[in-house]
Amino acid sequence: MKTDLPGLMLLARGRWVEILTAAGMPSDGIENRRGRPCPKCGGRDRFAAFPGLAERGVVYCRFCFNKNTNPRPGDGLSSLRWWLGVDAAGAIEWLARFLGVERGAAVPRHIERRVRIDDQRDPDPKWAEIADRWFAEMPDPWRARAAERLGLPVAALNRLRVGWAPEHRSTSWPMRDPDGRVIGIRLRCPVTARKWAVVGSAAGLICPVDLRAGMPLWVAEGPTDTAALYSIGLDGVGVPSAGARADWVANLARRLKAPEVIVVADRDDSGAMGAARLVAACVTICGVRVIHPGDGIKDVREWIVGGADADDLRAVADAAPIQQLNVRCHQ
Ligand SMILES: [Zn+2]
Repeated sequence: MKTDLPGLMLLARGRWVEILTAAGMPSDGIENRRGRPCPKCGGRDRFAAFPGLAERGVVYCRFCFNKNTNPRPGDGLSSLRWWLGVDAAGAIEWLARFLGVERGAAVPRHIERRVRIDDQRDPDPKWAEIADRWFAEMPDPWRARAAERLGLPVAALNRLRVGWAPEHRSTSWPMRDPDGRVIGIRLRCPVTARKWAVVGSAAGLICPVDLRAGMPLWVAEGPTDTAALYSIGLDGVGVPSAGARADWVANLARRLKAPEVIVVADRDDSGAMGAARLVAACVTICGVRVIHPGDGIKDVREWIVGGADADDLRAVADAAPIQQLNVRCHQ
């Protein structure tokens, strides 16, 4: 990928917190902090982010990233080199992908404005309470009927703690942060399939708290597609909308030591854009494949309800090119 470095750095200006977080650095460890454990080598107080982090992206570790190391701190790009363990070309390639720059022409990709969750503060516990209550209060026959309407087994819905929201007359789908804490609730009318969210909800990941480690992490768009994956024994996570929370998916993949991330993208423009964002965020963690449901199939749930099983999806994934960075380590 040929890129104009000054142009790239100009695009990155002001976005370094987002960029470093997307690269997998824990957001609570980098912003406005001094005297922190290093997210790379640990310790207690050896790590600091320089003032103006969003503008310039400079971080420092007394132990593993300082004036005597190669690379040494200086700008956001060297922070990326250090964090990803890549050379300058690798860091530039990663950054260009993240910023959506191709063939030397700087084309800023449309980025949805995200509300930053203040990681310092625990989420309001009311969300977990509401989710639990609605899960517990859903009568079993209703649960069975909701599952049947989706063509999915009850167990797949239970794994996501799907419940019934009486005041909204809809099924409730908890959304979580990467630590598994409920931060909001999606609603879905079982009859009309209308989708909305409880007022005040943050958009989070649709996933259970017991994702399996060391397995490929499948990524679907939305709650019902995610439940469909569980119905055939695949493990994964749903994003609230195409490509949203890609950095959280990357964090999960990292923590779960996923050997691979497999994105099942819808066959439309927003699906393609969302997949590109997931690839950009996850490609530093592990290999990423993007697959689509077959021709004429709307989404992964329809694909699975139509008879596709885990082997079918795996076969399609195996045939898809794996996207990964050519990482060259300095150690
Ligand atoms: Zn360190």
